[in-house]
Amino acid sequence: MTKKVIIIGGGPAGMQTAASLLDLGIKPVIIEKSDRIGGKLNDWHQLFPTFTPAHEVLAKLKGSMKDARVITGTAVESIGKDGVSLSDGSTMEADAVVVASGFNLFRAELKEELGYTIYDNVYTTVDIEHMLNDGKVAMKDGRTPQRIAFLHCVGSRDEKVNQRHCSKVCCVTGVKQAMELKAMFPQSEVYNFYMDIRMFGPGYEEMYRRAQEEFNIHFVRGRISEASETIDRRVQIKAEDTLIGRPLKMTVDMLILIVGMTAGESNRRFAETKGVELQPSGFVAPADSFTLNTCSGVPNIFYAGTVTAPKNLGESINEGVAAAQQVARYLNRR
Ligand SMILES: Cc1cc2nc3c(=O)[nH]c(=O)nc-3n(C[C@H](O)[C@H](O)[C@H](O)COP(=O)(O)OP(=O)(O)OC[C@H]3O[C@@H](n4cnc5c(N)ncnc54)[C@H](O)[C@@H]3O)c2cc1C
Ligand code: SF4
Repeated sequence: MTKKVIIIGGGPAGMQTAASLLDLGIKPVIIEKSDRIGGKLNDWHQLFPTFTPAHEVLAKLKGSMKDARVITGTAVESIGKDGVSLSDGSTMEADAVVVASGFNLFRAELKEELGYTIYDNVYTTVDIEHMLNDGKVAMKDGRTPQRIAFLHCVGSRDEKVNQRHCSKVCCVTGVKQAMELKAMFPQSEVYNFYMDIRMFGPGYEEMYRRAQEEFNIHFVRGRISEASETIDRRVQIKAEDTLIGRPLKMTVDMLILIVGMTAGESNRRFAETKGVELQPSGFVAPADSFTLNTCSGVPNIFYAGTVTAPKNLGESINEGVAAAQQVARYLNRR
């Protein structure tokens, strides 16, 4: 009898889960709430640490799972013992469910003191990816930026917005974009304001070195406490250089907020199912973080990708492979 497997979310982790299940002879169905598969990868321009165009990775993933059934424009509302409930009011039965519903981006407007959506030239790293994809990075009125500041840890490691975790991939994203903008505007000065630089990943530390030595990016240890707008629509920032213990004021043309990953919005509803547990961060908790990272407390519910924690693409995709293997093992044993 054909086994039914549902994958919730058609991002990189869900797509790889589908590809690996197909390799194992299982034809899954992906249910994706947006109108296209690809998840956040659709929004990225070039990927750290190799500067590979994101669309190349996306095309590879799409190619490997093209025989899977995909339903777009439909969200999974809840997970039950024998299947899922969908946003159109219907239910779908399944022998196994893989939750690959990913993460949300922190809403930078919640840090009101930084002026996102209030001042013209305050952006997020996601806005910059969109501008890079559109082929034009510029100030709101089209001027070329001469001085650019990036601020790390926006919406991560921050008790005030109830996000205590480190989002893991945003230091390297900020360093990557600093290098891209410096290459685009060689005359500009680029500053990164950080609490700690966390560059754990293959090639990440090397990128950080290149950013300093070859690109002359300035790294300032300190947090920007406040932003305000000048009469000519530039952004004045107040910070403290904690290495020399001095307050600092600076006017920049663009302030770019390096936004972190928050738990996916569906997690709370999914956790209404007994055995699907949440961590204090709101990400779902694997059955065991060492040996059963892609398993839940329910035998036929599995996890892949950033639904359990912030991860880079390679890690998220690898979990798709692991989750598919766990699903196949479970189905064979039934
Ligand atoms: C600014 C930024 C830049 C980054 N750049 C890089 C990079 O250069 N290199 C790198 O290695 N990593 C990068 N990353 C990390 C990378 O984006 C993630 O590792 C990857 O997107 C995780 O894939 P995922 O499938 O787990 O989640 P997602 O990409 O979030 O995909 C989840 C999918 O599930 C869908 N979904 C959610 N809820 C439901 C539901 N209830 N029902 C149905 N569908 C649902 C969503 O619509 C989405 O399509 C970056 C992250 C950020 C924040
Ligand atoms: S990866 Fe860097 S920017 Fe992101 S939360 Fe951790 S320390 Fe902050």
